[in-house]
Amino acid sequence: MQRNTAKPESYDVVVVGGGNAALTAAIAARQSGARVLVLESASEELRGGNTRFTGGLFRFTYRNLQEIARVLGKHDDPNLCEFDPYTADNFLGDINRMTRGKYDPALIDVLIKESYSTVCWLADMGMPFGIYRVPNLRIKGTDRYKVQFGAGFEVKGKGLTLSEKLFEFAQNFGIPVRYETECFGLLRDENGRVTGVQARDGKGETAIHAKAVVLGSGGFQSNPEMRTAYLGPAWSMVKVRGTRFDTGLMTRAALSIGAQAVGQWSGAHATPVDNDSGDYGDLESTDETNRVSYPYGLMFNLDGRRFCDEGEDFKLYTYAKTGGRILQERNGVIFQLFDQKTVPLLEKRYGTGKPETADTLEELADRLAERAGDLGFNKAQFLQTVAEYNAAVADIPFDAHRKDGKRTDGLAVDKSNWAQKLDATPYVAYPVTTGITFTFGGLGINTDSQVIDVLGRAIPGLYATGEATGGFFFYNYPGGSGLTRGAVFGRRAGVHAAAYAGRKPGETVEEAGEEVHAEALE
Ligand SMILES: Cc1cc2nc3c(=O)[nH]c(=O)nc-3n(C[C@H](O)[C@H](O)[C@H](O)COP(=O)(O)OP(=O)(O)OC[C@H]3O[C@@H](n4cnc5c(N)ncnc54)[C@H](O)[C@@H]3O)c2cc1C
Repeated sequence: MQRNTAKPESYDVVVVGGGNAALTAAIAARQSGARVLVLESASEELRGGNTRFTGGLFRFTYRNLQEIARVLGKHDDPNLCEFDPYTADNFLGDINRMTRGKYDPALIDVLIKESYSTVCWLADMGMPFGIYRVPNLRIKGTDRYKVQFGAGFEVKGKGLTLSEKLFEFAQNFGIPVRYETECFGLLRDENGRVTGVQARDGKGETAIHAKAVVLGSGGFQSNPEMRTAYLGPAWSMVKVRGTRFDTGLMTRAALSIGAQAVGQWSGAHATPVDNDSGDYGDLESTDETNRVSYPYGLMFNLDGRRFCDEGEDFKLYTYAKTGGRILQERNGVIFQLFDQKTVPLLEKRYGTGKPETADTLEELADRLAERAGDLGFNKAQFLQTVAEYNAAVADIPFDAHRKDGKRTDGLAVDKSNWAQKLDATPYVAYPVTTGITFTFGGLGINTDSQVIDVLGRAIPGLYATGEATGGFFFYNYPGGSGLTRGAVFGRRAGVHAAAYAGRKPGETVEEAGEEVHAEALE
């Protein structure tokens, strides 16, 4: 099967993947003097992995206006945001709370300590960061926005720009990218060092040799077989919010040579999405199918019952686990209900959906039953649930900007914050289901991004970053941490892989006196 090439290809570092994790690794390796090749499963048109679908939100620490100004550069005005410092302790507290303390302390320590410097590294290369303008966090009568919880800044133009810019930076550094090249195996020498990858492209199978390999090949969320095996049968047909190319092939390849499986393999980041969205993400709507304004409304299953505390916390601290919760409900389909007091608080993304609207709850129940079709919808229970909820709402002032403690009392499932009576007609309801974002379990790495074996020893020549790795997130996830994780450990992977390959920062391949593979420096 193996294709014969006249001259075997050889690089210092081969990077698998074309997302944020892989490309930050490739750039850092090149900055460190290495000859780098990027291999991407997708075509050039579909390149970029989940990264291209993202909201471009990066979570990082900052203490003052100067630090924020450094990140925003000429792309936004730091004076247009109101913020409290987001310290390392705040970040750690969020990770600890979300993961129930299960995280790997050494990895999270690096993630937090290097979050700001890594975002600056990207900003200095020209990544256009701006303030994340959440409509309901706009300060009344001004152009200013409240920025919250370390996840208040995004790449302007979101994932599409993030991805485009990363490929542009890679191109500026002369890093070749080979598309439609799916890697499926790892090459090793007689001492067990990883010496390249096996890949399949339009011409057949090929071996690509390198002194080091970095896996930035994402999670296994797009592989129904692995989803079923690790997450459970309920996940086999779930909608995928992002790329179809994150199939876990290289995760498997690494496990098969003794890499340690780390983290919550039965867990995934999954959010509420429009029930009418496609089986995979599409590059027109990217993250627009998300339905995460539920803290201001109610969620009902097809039996007409509420099933979780919609107001437990701000969306950025609950959305990643709520998708999984919805999957536990009958047929994995639910409705989100709002009234005219809460409709103004909905994210703009709801504008892409097709809601049911009605002047009375009875009329709405009929519409929802029609929408549910053969799945069935319990109208009587729905009406009873809303009536009980409205009667249980405490008389406390509502405040969308903070956890206001406006709650219900005495319900089987209480709502802890933002519980307003739903009575301002017309009512609006959106059909919603689960969309998986990425998987939590992955390859074990050390703080140098080296893949480790079951004894914690580095597998020589093998590095990993981003969603291919485990040990960071369990059960839940603080919004905006994924991109930061990929970039922090991508940069580390690149630097360490280049050093392992014998390169020094600033050294060019020519200075090192070696034959240059023509394509590598095109
Ligand atoms: C809709 C959506 C919105 C999101 N918004 C945010 C956000 O705002 N902030 C945030 O922090 N996170 C967000 N995320 C989470 C996001 O997935 C990650 O943070 C980040 O983009 C993952 O980067 P990655 O490089 O690890 O993986 P990916 O970006 O998925 O990249 C993996 C790459 O590997 C390639 N690949 C896979 N297998 C192979 C193989 N065998 N051979 C060759 N190539 C292969 C893929 O084609 C792809 O290019 C969002 C995700 C989605 C889906």
